[in-house]
Amino acid sequence: MKKILVIYTGGTIGMVQDNVTGALRPFNLEQICEVIPTLKKLDCIIETLTLETVIDSSNVNIDFWIRLVGIIECNYDNYDGFVVLHGTDTMSYTASALSFMIENLSKPIILTGSQLPLGMIRTDGRENIISAIEIASNNEVVIPEVCIFFDNKLYRGNRTTKINSEYFEAFYSGNYPSLAKVGINITYKDHLICPQSQGRTKFYKQLCDDIVIIKIHPALKEKYLQAVLAADGLRAVILETYGSGNAPTEKWFIDLIQHTISKGIIVYNVTQCKAGKVVMGHYETSRQLMSMGVISGDDITTEAALAKLMLLIATERDNEKIKQLLTTNLRGEITKQ
Ligand code: ASP
Repeated sequence: MKKILVIYTGGTIGMVQDNVTGALRPFNLEQICEVIPTLKKLDCIIETLTLETVIDSSNVNIDFWIRLVGIIECNYDNYDGFVVLHGTDTMSYTASALSFMIENLSKPIILTGSQLPLGMIRTDGRENIISAIEIASNNEVVIPEVCIFFDNKLYRGNRTTKINSEYFEAFYSGNYPSLAKVGINITYKDHLICPQSQGRTKFYKQLCDDIVIIKIHPALKEKYLQAVLAADGLRAVILETYGSGNAPTEKWFIDLIQHTISKGIIVYNVTQCKAGKVVMGHYETSRQLMSMGVISGDDITTEAALAKLMLLIATERDNEKIKQLLTTNLRGEITKQ
């Protein structure tokens, strides 16, 4: 029988309604089979682990990711798969971070959560947990990826973005189809799932957060951008540009980006659009960025771009190597060989 570790980190999913006061409070994960008795019918062994401090996922930071990867590493040989219960707000960031922090993953790590707490009658959490565990413990299809399961779909985690704070369909993967769909049966799309890697699984527990994300918008003011880019210790900038990678062509903007690059700061171009990709040089408004040495993010999400940069800056010394790896598909995060 497969053995699954359910790691509870916090978020809406872990709330139950107090019988007396009616207020929502975090529940004890040890009671998970009492809250969802159906779990006892699954053909697998479920064990649980609750983080010492459960958090609203708005408080996720580098230390949280390093702790989580440490927990997975310590338990890696003892379990066939992992289900991480996590707040939805930053779930895509955590899924992206885990995907880069673990190389040659050979077992499924599935993040899930809910829009309504487990203790509410119409909760989506029950279905999400049951299906996530069922997929993680499947005997025939082993998905060696960090995924998000939400609203009947299994996604590659580093391709997702949270797009809805109200409806159950909270996540979107605009540039990569779902890996599996849950209906009467679970339909796996084998050709979209990463093949098992032959290499040894490696856990990285260092990340660098000297990175800033700047969203380009009309009427962006020079003095504010200048102040941010002049900050001490800055190593990389993610420019969230328009459409296929376009930004203003005003002289002050071009000069500032040029000056930033000349200081050895990496400038990485990702699109604000939820689907499609950066094609630098397609319009005049991105041609100059390209010639200055801005790196194209292709069809990467902002969440994955941040995670990828955090890892590369922490683990590689040479900027040229970092730039080369940024344009290489490392964990299925971009549509490229
Ligand atoms: N604020 C919550 C969190 O991300 C929202 C949720 O879980 O859906 O932790």
